[in-house]
Amino acid sequence: MQNLLDLDPAQLTAWFAARGEKPFRATQVLRWIHRFGEADFDAMTDIAKSLREKLKAEAVVVPPAIVSDKLSDDGTRKFLFDVGNGNAVETVFIPEDDRGTLCVSTQAGCALDCSFCSTGKQGFNRNLTVAEIIGQLWQVNKALGRDPKGERIISNVVLMGMGEPLANFENAVAALKLMLDDNCYGLSRRRVTVSTSGLVPVMDRLRDECPVALAVSLHAPNDILRDELVPINQKYPLSELMAACRRYLEKAPRDFVTFEYVMLDGVNDHDYDARELLSLTRHVPCKFNLIPFNPFPGSPYRRSRPERIRRFADILMGAGIVTTTRKTRGDDIDAACGQLAGQVLDKTRRTGRRTIMLEEDKS
Ligand code: SAH
Ligand code: SF4
Repeated sequence: MQNLLDLDPAQLTAWFAARGEKPFRATQVLRWIHRFGEADFDAMTDIAKSLREKLKAEAVVVPPAIVSDKLSDDGTRKFLFDVGNGNAVETVFIPEDDRGTLCVSTQAGCALDCSFCSTGKQGFNRNLTVAEIIGQLWQVNKALGRDPKGERIISNVVLMGMGEPLANFENAVAALKLMLDDNCYGLSRRRVTVSTSGLVPVMDRLRDECPVALAVSLHAPNDILRDELVPINQKYPLSELMAACRRYLEKAPRDFVTFEYVMLDGVNDHDYDARELLSLTRHVPCKFNLIPFNPFPGSPYRRSRPERIRRFADILMGAGIVTTTRKTRGDDIDAACGQLAGQVLDKTRRTGRRTIMLEEDKS
C-alpha cells in the first residue's frame, strides 16, 4: 500500500501516470488530501467511482497519530505524535497576533549532540518519513480548524522542532514542496523556515533545490566555543558557515539569514562575545534572534539574566543589526525551544534517557 502522504506533488503525478491517470487527477487528489484534509477516498466526490475503487485498493492516507495535545497558559499548544516503535515526536503551535506558527520535527532524536539541547541528549533514533513530517501539519491544521473568515490558522511553518532538517534532506524537501504547493498548503517561501546547525554542503543543496527562509543556529562567536557547544562546527567551521550563508542569500526568498543564539549564562553572553559576533557576521546580511536558554533536567547551563540579554541585544542593535529576543513560551508544558524531549526510546544512551524521563515524571 502506498501512503499518499509520502509523495510530493511531482511524485504523486508520476504515481498517477504510472497507472494511466492524467495529471489533473493527481491535482484533484492532492487538493482533497492537503487542502481539505480528507483521508477517505469515498469522500472525494468529484473523482470517478472506478478511480476511487482503484485508490482504495492500492493506497492509503495515513498521518502519524496524535497521542497527546497540551495547551499552555500562553496559548502555545504542544502535540505529541506517535511514530511507531515507542518513538514520539513533538510539534508546537505558537499563536501570535499577526500569524500562527507551527514548529515541526524532522527526526526522532538528533545525532548532532549540541551540548545545550535536550533532543540532542537523547541521541539519534531515526529520520521521519515525508508522511510523518507533513502529517504534523496535516493533523494540526485539522485540530485547529479554520478562523472566522474560513482561513487556515497556520500561516508559518518552521522546521525547528526535534532533529536536524538538513540531516534528513530528501524527506524534509519533499515536505517543504507540499507546504509551498498552491494545491496543498500554499505557504509562501518567506513564511517557511528551515533551521540548521550548519551542515554546509546541504545548505547549498537546499538553496538549489528548494530555497526557503533560513535560520542558522550560531550560538558562539568563535570556533573554540562553537566546537564545544555545536560539535558539527568541528567539521564545518565558522569561516565555511559564513561563506555558505552568503551563497545561500544569492537565491534565497529573503535577503537576510536569521542567526539563532541561545543565551547561556557566563558561557557565550559577554559583551565581548557580542562584539566578536559583529566582526564574524560583518559580511552576512542578518538578523539575530536571541533565545533565553531553556533548562531541562541534567543540563549544566543556566539562562542568562534578562538585563544581560538586553545589554547583549543593545550591542548588536547599536551596530544596526535587527535583534529580537524570543519570548519563552510554553514553559509550563515543556514546549519551549530545546525542551522537546518526546518519549524516544534511546537505543544508544538508554540509561541517560531513563533518568530524564524519571525526572520529567516527577514534575
Ligand atoms: N537542529 C536544528 C533545528 C532544531 S533546534 C538546529 O539546531 O537549528 C531549534 C533551535 O532551538 C536551535 O536554534 C537550537 O539551537 C535551539 N535550542 C536547542 N536547545 C535549546 C535550549 N535548551 N534552549 C534554547 N534553545 C535551544
Ligand atoms: Fe540537533 Fe538542533 Fe538539538 Fe543541535 S540544537 S542537537 S542540531 S536538534
